[in-house]
Amino acid sequence: MSDNSYVLAGDVGGTNLRIAAVDCDGTILHLAQAATPQTGVDADIIDAIVTGGEACIAAIKPDARPNSFGLAVAALVDTNGTGRILGAPNLPQLNGLPLADLLATRLDLRVTLENDATAAAVGEHWLGSSKDVDNSIFVTLGTGIGGGLILNGRPYRGTDGTAGEIGHICVEPEGIACGCGSRGCVEQYASASAIVRIARELLHRDSTSGLKQKPDFSAKDVYDAAIGGDPLSLKVFRTMGCYLGVALADLVNVLNPELIVIGGKVASGWDLFIEDVRTEIMERAFRYPAETVTLERALLGDSAGILGAARVAFDQV
Ligand SMILES: [Zn+2]
Repeated sequence: MSDNSYVLAGDVGGTNLRIAAVDCDGTILHLAQAATPQTGVDADIIDAIVTGGEACIAAIKPDARPNSFGLAVAALVDTNGTGRILGAPNLPQLNGLPLADLLATRLDLRVTLENDATAAAVGEHWLGSSKDVDNSIFVTLGTGIGGGLILNGRPYRGTDGTAGEIGHICVEPEGIACGCGSRGCVEQYASASAIVRIARELLHRDSTSGLKQKPDFSAKDVYDAAIGGDPLSLKVFRTMGCYLGVALADLVNVLNPELIVIGGKVASGWDLFIEDVRTEIMERAFRYPAETVTLERALLGDSAGILGAARVAFDQV
């Protein structure tokens, strides 16, 4: 087995940490998973990544080492230079750390960091929904909203590596305060957390919904109620769809994409919100780019980030 036949790829989030050995076809040869250490100590996360990497290397073949490691991190990352973490609200212990350099020394590998949503965009472009599409936007709807841009067939990272923060497009100038420091970001109106908040607000005015019986309901509960025909829950998804459409209409005007790929857990509610997204894009964006763009669900699920990180690692070889 030659050195270039597989790479290490990883996906580090606030809750879970996964490291894999991936071959050049995108097959995951070995996967090491762990809970992200919650000790608040940076060295514990680095140790967990190194342990996962070493487990993958040992599982493949002791005499064939990978020479590249792509790591997707739920953070703003400096994709130039030392691979420094520029901002990590969900992994604050990593803030300011030259993570790629530290891991490269520990594992004796070339290490390249990527923002997790950009990595997922790369993964979908390599093996998923946006395969063979030159200009696409990837949006992930989870607890927050992440985004990644593929322009002219390549990931667009901006000057420092921080481009693609679609979740922080403003849809209400005087709206709800956001973790990023701004107000009224679409993340506050179309994420899983937003679904729960919007449902709570509507419940104050309408007590007939079945959600009333479950004080600590989740976005999944709102989804289940909507599928069951609960009018309030259906309205919640239509509302989040409108807000998402407002944000995406701006991107359609600015970037003229061929395709917008929507992933993340909230995408399960696709049929409940996508018509409202389309309507807002058609009503707000210029006619030609609005008629050009198609909306599709992501195909790779949880694997998009790790596969994108693998693609990034192969591109470094
Ligand atoms: Zn924000």
